[in-house]
Amino acid sequence: MSNFEYASAPESKAIANIATSYGLFIGGKFVDPRKGKSFETINPATEEVLSKIGYADKLDVDLAVKSARSAFTKIWSKTPAKERGKYLYRIARILQERAREFAVVETLDNGKPIRESRDTDIPLAAAHFFYHAGWADKLEYAGFGNKPKPVGVVGQIIPWNFPLLMLAWKIAPALVAGNTVVLKPAETTPLTALLFAQVCQQAGLPESVVNIITGDGITGAALVNHPDINKVAFTGSTEVGKAIARSISATNKRATLELGGKAANLVFEDAAIDEAVEGIVNGIFFNQGHVCCAGSRLLVQENVADEVLEKLKARMSLIRVGDPMDKNTDLGAINSKEQLKRIHEITKSGDAEGANRWSPECKLPSKGFWYPPTIFTGVSQSHRIAREEIFGPVLSVLTFRTPAEGIEKANNTMYGLSAGIWSDKGAKILWAAKQLKAGVIWSNTFNKFDPASPFGGYKESGWGREGGRHGLSGYLKSDVKASK
Ligand code: ADP
Repeated sequence: MSNFEYASAPESKAIANIATSYGLFIGGKFVDPRKGKSFETINPATEEVLSKIGYADKLDVDLAVKSARSAFTKIWSKTPAKERGKYLYRIARILQERAREFAVVETLDNGKPIRESRDTDIPLAAAHFFYHAGWADKLEYAGFGNKPKPVGVVGQIIPWNFPLLMLAWKIAPALVAGNTVVLKPAETTPLTALLFAQVCQQAGLPESVVNIITGDGITGAALVNHPDINKVAFTGSTEVGKAIARSISATNKRATLELGGKAANLVFEDAAIDEAVEGIVNGIFFNQGHVCCAGSRLLVQENVADEVLEKLKARMSLIRVGDPMDKNTDLGAINSKEQLKRIHEITKSGDAEGANRWSPECKLPSKGFWYPPTIFTGVSQSHRIAREEIFGPVLSVLTFRTPAEGIEKANNTMYGLSAGIWSDKGAKILWAAKQLKAGVIWSNTFNKFDPASPFGGYKESGWGREGGRHGLSGYLKSDVKASK
């Protein structure tokens, strides 16, 4: 059984029509950056260059914001909400129609397994547009007053772990509420955002309602600091989130910040162990662990720890690591050389601080950026690998004796984005969920997402929520006060 072999089942690249170069999407069309600068985006699984991408500097950011402001004032804020909803439905349907193409481009640019981009990222991105389209004719019943108003022009900055999905989380609520946007994808994964620009054209979305500018952190900072944006919506590291909070502190810009996490996945002695093991694997190895809500700290009750670890190691030995375009692959490439370096750096501190490293035997491809699925046991709460977000396929295992100790350890973190509870006892699950300081808590499952469910964190995991009615509130100005 352990020798069960899989024949490779590669997805075809033929459907991905990647251009050799892309400009910036401003004013409804692709334009060259004013200074003509560009950078390359590569496939992290092969290091092959996929395309040359325009680099937006301050002047281009200014042009994009001006164009978004003009569309806001003249068109979008005056377009009835029901009409806006029609565009969102159209975008959602186009994403479904072009799902395979999007999945292939996402996997080539990001390194994530095609199975995940095909079954998770792209369907969920379409679902976010469908869900928010459904709000269009109900905004006045959403609890923000009779005539809630859009915030204005929104600067949106997203990371590289779920490129199209994070774009959907940002753009769908902004548009349905009547805002216009300037969005900057991450420098290592710009392609699906640029493909999305084509979807906006295809859907006949009025020009300049969505503008997409590509570049790095300097471009992002120029967007945050532009005087004519009304709100910043950011997903990324806590460090950059703090820098953004500082730079908008003396302005009246609004912000939602979705930052890092170090989620506890708590396994109680009465858990269904086989199911819990599946949940642990999904919690940390989904998307190579490049997940802000990843279950990266396993807290297991001491009397079942040996059994859990034995089964976990057996299950990890079956994880297929390799070509992300192969439909059998479970764990793909690390998104960039820089991220791989960071994973190496933090995990080495785990070795140095005395934790025990274990990985199943697996052959990593010679080209590209790879890291094997890894667990550390003998981890104590003070170790860096227990405190810092590794953002890779690395699990830190800690134990606890009593439920109260488990909760205390789970909450002993500067983050508070998510948590998992594994137990057969409903009362224990409810008790634990109440004690855990985390924005999203899963019980007997992990990494489940739904556009109707608000997502966001406590403490250094950020400000505000995305998704659901709570997420929508970040894009609307309530008229309740004005009507009193
Ligand atoms: P990660 O650690 O996931 O790479 P970052 O926070 O560095 O996360 O990046 C997330 C997004 O924020 C990317 O689009 C990146 O270009 C952008 N970014 C990086 N630095 C800044 C900054 N100082 N201001 C605004 N955006 C930034």
